[in-house]
Amino acid sequence: MISALLGISLISFAQPDYFYPAAKQINKNIPTPEEFLGYPIGTHHTRYDKIIEYFKALDKASDRFVVEEIGSTIGHRVQVVAKITSLANHGRLDEIRKKNLEGATDIPLVIQLGYNVHGNEPSSSEAAMITAYYLAASEDEETIKWLNELVILLDPVYNPDGRDRHTHWANMHKGSPFVADAVDREHNEAWPGGRTNHYWFDLNRDWFLGVHPESRNRMKFFHHWRPYVMTDHHEMGTNSSFYFDPGKYTSNNPVVPAYLYDVVHPKFAEYFAQGLNSVGSLYFTKEAYDKLYPGYGSSYVNFYGGIGILFEQASSRGHLQETTTIPLTFAFTIRNQFKASLATVRASVGEKVMLRKLRKDFFSSALSQAKASPIKAYVFGESKDATRTNAFINLLLMHQIEVYETGQTVTTAGNTFEKGKSYIVPTEQTNYIMVRSAFEKDITYRDSTFYDASTWSLVHAFNMPYAEVKGSFTKGNQVKETPVRTLSPVTKSNYAYLIDITDYNAHKAIYALQTKDVIVRTGFKPFSSLVNGVEKSFPHGSLVIPVQQQRINADELFEAIRSTSAMAGVEIYSVETGLNAKGVDLGSGSIRTVKEAKVLMPIGVGVSGYEAGEVWHLLDQRIGMPISKVDLLNFSRVNLSEYNVLVMVGGNYPADKPTTEKIKSWVQSGGTLITLKSANEWVIKQGLVKEKLIPIDTIKNPKRVDFELAGDTEGAKQIGGAIFQVDLDITNPIGFGYTDRKVSVYRNGRTFLQPSKTAYNTIAQYTPTPLIGGYIHKTDIKRVANSAAVLYSPEGQGRVIMFADNPNFRGTWYGTNKMFLNALFFGSLISLPNNFGEE
Ligand SMILES: [Zn+2]
Repeated sequence: MISALLGISLISFAQPDYFYPAAKQINKNIPTPEEFLGYPIGTHHTRYDKIIEYFKALDKASDRFVVEEIGSTIGHRVQVVAKITSLANHGRLDEIRKKNLEGATDIPLVIQLGYNVHGNEPSSSEAAMITAYYLAASEDEETIKWLNELVILLDPVYNPDGRDRHTHWANMHKGSPFVADAVDREHNEAWPGGRTNHYWFDLNRDWFLGVHPESRNRMKFFHHWRPYVMTDHHEMGTNSSFYFDPGKYTSNNPVVPAYLYDVVHPKFAEYFAQGLNSVGSLYFTKEAYDKLYPGYGSSYVNFYGGIGILFEQASSRGHLQETTTIPLTFAFTIRNQFKASLATVRASVGEKVMLRKLRKDFFSSALSQAKASPIKAYVFGESKDATRTNAFINLLLMHQIEVYETGQTVTTAGNTFEKGKSYIVPTEQTNYIMVRSAFEKDITYRDSTFYDASTWSLVHAFNMPYAEVKGSFTKGNQVKETPVRTLSPVTKSNYAYLIDITDYNAHKAIYALQTKDVIVRTGFKPFSSLVNGVEKSFPHGSLVIPVQQQRINADELFEAIRSTSAMAGVEIYSVETGLNAKGVDLGSGSIRTVKEAKVLMPIGVGVSGYEAGEVWHLLDQRIGMPISKVDLLNFSRVNLSEYNVLVMVGGNYPADKPTTEKIKSWVQSGGTLITLKSANEWVIKQGLVKEKLIPIDTIKNPKRVDFELAGDTEGAKQIGGAIFQVDLDITNPIGFGYTDRKVSVYRNGRTFLQPSKTAYNTIAQYTPTPLIGGYIHKTDIKRVANSAAVLYSPEGQGRVIMFADNPNFRGTWYGTNKMFLNALFFGSLISLPNNFGEE
């Protein structure tokens, strides 16, 4: 404790000596963080709003400093970036920006410093304040040179909502004196912690997926400026030291030219080492962290000819925490992050020539790669699902990928891409490296241990019909904005309205209609109806809304139909007869009423926060539907009969009798339980279903392996994330709205389900050779092949719908969201023929 107290008193009285002892001249008119906040940096966690106020104070006090607001978070926190450069550069900042985008080299170099994407890794944002202060206040010759030669974009907090969750936690549990004991509540946040954003998503995976406003605002800013350098400051385990790049050699992304990894990273590392050596801090490089996935803050810029840099500081997680050596102070962690920040600035000026070469070579290499590729373009589009197609285009445009309308109908390998309903992405374009990342499923990797996903092909996440074009092609107009769907106006009907549910927004429409008191029915058999005198086919699952047998009158119904069509962007058709041209008629017993789903999801310790967050986000943001999130601690108090759907995402659930019996009897009396990933192991072990797991058997006589190889050997057995093909029964309600039985799914877990003994109950099954892209260990591929992907298990009056995988992965799997939503909306309607008429 003595050493810790000494440390604190030292920084309380002499912050300049602790953080920047070498500074010679300081402008006294610039407020220090300590003066502004009223406490020394490192003795308290600074609230987000105070960080922003401080930045605005620097903007006022310094002519080097301009704060720009770039948007706001889900929690209504304003996101800012400080633009820091000399007064002269500020005078022509927009000119510099434009010239930078054109590739000019006779202008200051643009770099970006970024902090705190994981909210509970707080040292970096405190360091951001000191860095900002230093750049605003230092009059030293070196600082003046930096400001003349650089435009520094400084984003103090990448994840403001998560940052504040953790900040409040650390401050509210802070003791005086500080409590270093690792088991103290200050060092152990309650579920779900501050790492993630409002919806419990990891924003340090979202740079590629752009699901959240935080990332979208930031990416827009990124492409507005295109910095050469981007940093991403993190924290890791308390007993670790400090990490900077280069990362693990075998985990470099193979589509990015190797010059970045082989030359630029090692050169920058010399500067980081020097910065940390100056305060005697320990560090490591090369042993960990991958550069494969384009969605990290430390990798996104690599796909645009820059260098992304990852920093990881051992976390004090709180103000002071014991380690295997001396207790780690918050101030110490902040100082290392600050040293790394200044080292980045110093390296950017020192290695300007190398950075210019990196960018120039990157884009020329991209073009020669594109010219050499046998693939000349990708054509894509789901003509019956404009919402999904447009969301995909939106993502491509976000990455500044050039997209065109197809100039003529393209037919390849049995697929037809109609002119007017499909799009084309030529490979010969500036951002070819990003085109590869979005479309290729099998980028070769050199390692089998993955920190995260081993493939991220967006075209598969969207289950988007696409084809590689190897010959010549004709492109139409360039798509500059996300296409907006034009809907034919709905005419008033005296008989019924029909909706084809192929569109992604169909469930949004169902829920909106139900909240307007409209009774919605769904067709278990397909039919064709006359719409405006033309025969139109309605596949399985199409919605039927009769005008009679409604609780509201025909005018109110028409208003509900009209407004829902406009809000959800789905076509709604009027028909004047129930007698169909083909298939069943509108009064058929196969047209069944959709019950309004009342959904509950148990959450809390043991439950995957990511998977729960993905369900919450999907229902909130895409469907506009509430979901009750109930902490397992309160589960015993909940009256389950008020809900008809229960979602259990992956996790370790309590196996006590009261919890198990409560869920079991609720299912028996008619509830629909949806289980994802490891929650299937729970329902099987607790005897809620009769289905079985495929065992992960241990090898009887294992080969002897050296201790040192254990990490890599065991790592290679995990499924970091790969894409597989399943065959989906599209006549089952879970398959409603799918046009093709072959669907891509994302697997990143090791729950393997045996196909059901009942012929109809394996709703989706892995194909015999299911791997589409990514890495999987050879023993696991045998378990995946022909296993069940989605199972239906009737139990009493209710049922369990089991998803082996996560259909909502990272808010991006538009292609499998529909199966999950079908389970939620239509699950209770599934019944085998002997139950017909018992609904
Ligand atoms: Zn982190």
